[in-house]
Amino acid sequence: MIKKLLKRVFGKTARARIEGKCHIIPFEVHGVGRDGISPAARKVAEGLHAAGYKAFVVGGAVRDLLLGRHPKDFDMATNATPEEVRRVFRRSRIIGRRFRLVHVMFGDDMVETSTFRRLIEAEDAQTDEHGRLLRDNEFGDQEQDAARRDFTANALYYDPVSQEIYDYHDGYADIRANTLRMIGDPVVRYREDPVRMLRAVRLSAKLVRMLRAVRLSAKLGMKLDAATAAPIAGMKELLGNVPQARLLDEMLKLLMSGHAVECVKKLRAMELHHGLLPMLDMILEQPLGEKFVMLALQNTDQRIAEDKSVTPAFLFAALLWHEVLAAWKARCDAGEPPVLALHTAMDEVLDRQREKLAIPRRYDAVMKELWLLQPRFEQRGGQRPLRLLAQPRFRAAYDFLLLRCESGEVDGELGSWWGEFQDATDERRAAMLLPDREPKKRRRRRKPDAKPQPEAAAQMALPIE
Ligand code: ATP
Ligand code: MG
Repeated sequence: MIKKLLKRVFGKTARARIEGKCHIIPFEVHGVGRDGISPAARKVAEGLHAAGYKAFVVGGAVRDLLLGRHPKDFDMATNATPEEVRRVFRRSRIIGRRFRLVHVMFGDDMVETSTFRRLIEAEDAQTDEHGRLLRDNEFGDQEQDAARRDFTANALYYDPVSQEIYDYHDGYADIRANTLRMIGDPVVRYREDPVRMLRAVRLSAKLVRMLRAVRLSAKLGMKLDAATAAPIAGMKELLGNVPQARLLDEMLKLLMSGHAVECVKKLRAMELHHGLLPMLDMILEQPLGEKFVMLALQNTDQRIAEDKSVTPAFLFAALLWHEVLAAWKARCDAGEPPVLALHTAMDEVLDRQREKLAIPRRYDAVMKELWLLQPRFEQRGGQRPLRLLAQPRFRAAYDFLLLRCESGEVDGELGSWWGEFQDATDERRAAMLLPDREPKKRRRRRKPDAKPQPEAAAQMALPIE
């Protein structure tokens, strides 16, 4: 409709002009107005223009705008060096040692601004023995900057001042044709950086969902171009050379993309599990946990669609929950007291995953809290439910409980009870409380040298069968 309107206003003459290898697509053709760009990114572009430099919004933001979606952030690319950018904006700082970027601040907003980079020629490139690039951080011009990007749809440059899009690799046509296509030879590009295989899966899943959301036929979803998809099967082993931390980073992006379920299905279809992506094996290869983990992913996608907060720790806790349960049960069966057994089971599982999944330690505390609160939902007598409600992490732990109910691990009645109890009046709560059959906490006078028991531990119930 916008297209028709534009045609009526501007006639049929509006079309891209060509400068060298670049197609410059005017606003009248693409229809993305500068009001779609965040005020901060616009100010960066305007400031750099005024100082005589070129500046463009680049990458995912342009792609998302063309697909009618609000981008999550706006990255800028410019021909100004970091020092020159720094001189234009008082509130800015240079970050990074290997490749320096500038963070430009406007109020609470920050715009990451990077100088055009070039791909280092094959003979000068530093690679590992499998051809993986170890650095790609030389300054270059815009054309070179476009060539080092991954997909044609990610190599479009939007100038907020002129409202033109600069396109060196037919990315605009590919977006119109809903095709995700690698720039250059996909075999070479995957060898340079195997993570691009995961990006291919994540971005094509994302775009399929987006197109569905705007009610275009699912068939029209962004498909992976055949030549881009074909080498993945034969090259997937290269993921084994990627440092664990980078893989985890990319998996996390994938799981938190709002399209986790779609991504996981695609990764499975491409057989990227079985040892290549430990996180994916964790999702797909736990007999008891798969249903639970897939529910957790669905739930995460749903929350993101509703603009609710999501935390990696919740997902990680879900991923590892059935392992914790199994380890806990084994310890209880061996005669360990339940409270101690749960604590040691948690530590055991967290230690075990460290080598395989590399989940950073900063998530441990929240994961443990979510797990430790679970048995406390079983206790519905006395003051205990009220104490549980007062826990700062109650809401997340309750969401976790609901997933356990939905997966069939615990009776749905427990989830419904807590759903009602948390919103009930005091009177109703009093009526809902079950007879208090739990042993009363005995108030013993502590010996001077005895360690205090943590409250959570003191109230622990038996493991759930
Ligand atoms: P998202 O919307 O999920 O952020 P994105 O495409 O913006 O997707 P980023 O990781 O933010 O992804 O990367 C920004 C841009 O940097 C990409 O659009 C692409 O042009 C380039 N890029 C990112 N990763 C790579 C890579 N591994 N190889 C080549 N170019 C890359
Ligand atoms: Mg991005």
